[in-house]
Amino acid sequence: MEVEFLDLQRHYFEIEKEINQAVSRVLKSGWYIGGEEVASFEKNFSGYIHCAHCISCGNGTDALEIILRALEIGVEDEVIVPAFTWVSEAEAVLAVGGNVVFADVDADGNISAAAVEKKITAHTKAVIGVHLYGKMCDVEALAALCKKHNIFFIEDAAQAHGASSGDKVVGTFGDAAIFSFYPTKNLGAYGDGGAITTNNNELAEQVRLITDHGQSSRDVHHRAGRNSRLDPVQAAILNVKMEHLERYTLQREVLAKRYIEAFQALPINLPADVKSRVWHLFVIEALQRDKLKRYLQEKGVKTAIHYGNALSKMNIYKTADQPYPVAERLAAQSLSLPLYPELKAEEQEYVIEKIQAFFIK
Ligand SMILES: *Cc1c(COP(=O)(O)O)cnc(C)c1O
Repeated sequence: MEVEFLDLQRHYFEIEKEINQAVSRVLKSGWYIGGEEVASFEKNFSGYIHCAHCISCGNGTDALEIILRALEIGVEDEVIVPAFTWVSEAEAVLAVGGNVVFADVDADGNISAAAVEKKITAHTKAVIGVHLYGKMCDVEALAALCKKHNIFFIEDAAQAHGASSGDKVVGTFGDAAIFSFYPTKNLGAYGDGGAITTNNNELAEQVRLITDHGQSSRDVHHRAGRNSRLDPVQAAILNVKMEHLERYTLQREVLAKRYIEAFQALPINLPADVKSRVWHLFVIEALQRDKLKRYLQEKGVKTAIHYGNALSKMNIYKTADQPYPVAERLAAQSLSLPLYPELKAEEQEYVIEKIQAFFIK
């Protein structure tokens, strides 16, 4: 049997008719930038996470850069980010001229308030907390710590659409949050897309200005902005997918729970099955990661590595700092297994069987 790591075609075919209708509606409207489709997605999404403002933009990386600029973070300012995550956080800090400061992560890949606190200096302006693989970072402790030191707390929710704790949803715990709608994310477009969410009216206004050339109305430019937009075709696709998001989230959860149940006795670290999380990736930690990956590949099971190198080990970000042992360990031992709503039960059973065989043989 061949099991794909991800199958976006299968995902599309399942909702093909609705998607085609939505795309065709936009193409026939003659309106290809902004407009009602984009406004309705922003309203939909902010309603979904119970947040006052959702400002869409070109992608999640832009969203990070835009929010840093809106918070006036720049030269000589330090921003604390996880040493182990996707590269965008560190990239966005450099893009605004700031200095990247890493905090090591815990075994779940997220930064703790204790790790962050050690890195706070007089130059620290913000902390970016990532909800890695859909598991929330300790938002309450991080938000409280940032408040105490009078710095901003930004959530990177690119992997955690819909995760919630109590009656609060991810994207509303910090001063602002960013989302990505990259095709493989839990809520994914068929191209690039991103958004910034915040409950702060003034910040929302600055973010909106920056995404559209600093312009409030035609030929009135209040600040140097840029062009970063979600287009109406992608917004229409996302509006369709929003209607299925709860179901996708549940399907992912069922698969994740099945993996966890099946792997209890194996010598691997399993992701935490906590109520507040959603499942973006299913990442296990194994000493023989590379051997396991090759074995599965030979059996027809495709896996992936998120992420093969800690940011703190990359030359462009490397500081003459102490090592980041957990980040480096996760980079060496993490393996992502197939987890997507359309993964069939028999495919998952095959993956499970092969992983068990690898350890038990
Ligand atoms: C995907 C992702 C981003 C960037 O999103 P793009 O839309 O690809 O620019 C940022 N942070 C995290 C944690 C991500 O997973």
